[in-house]
Amino acid sequence: MKKTDVPNAIEQTLRQASATREGFLGPDSRSLAAILRADDKAVRQRGLTHARIAKQLLALRQAGWKGLGELVSVPPHFEVRVDAARGKLPCPFGDPGSFAKVNTTVCNLERGTEITFTDLNIHLIAIHGFYEGRGAPFRLDPEQLMDTLEMGRDP
Ligand SMILES: [Zn+2]
Repeated sequence: MKKTDVPNAIEQTLRQASATREGFLGPDSRSLAAILRADDKAVRQRGLTHARIAKQLLALRQAGWKGLGELVSVPPHFEVRVDAARGKLPCPFGDPGSFAKVNTTVCNLERGTEITFTDLNIHLIAIHGFYEGRGAPFRLDPEQLMDTLEMGRDP
């Protein structure tokens, strides 16, 4: 029988830590395909798409950018802070170009929840539907993400 659980090259890249970044999959033992499937299901259950979530993340990032490290209030009850660091990161899926090391933190003051994401996260969600593996430092759990952003219908 043919083995079907051999990780492909991209999956190996995602598991590997580099000098500039820890692995994208963290200690998650699920296959990349299984991670993508589970997160895609969570998003679709709320009547959303990865593109819509990424668009909202980008809008908040742009709103926070004006504050240059200071908190920016965004209606109805969000606070956004954007911190930029030197350097750029490439897309681990091999797309051309690279992404500035910009961290955006969004606090939902009403719910008392907070998420932090990078410019690379926005790309990974928009283009690859990838939220990283469980336990990875920049994993964005779709449920927590949608709850904090108050997006989508209740499941
Ligand atoms: Zn990419």
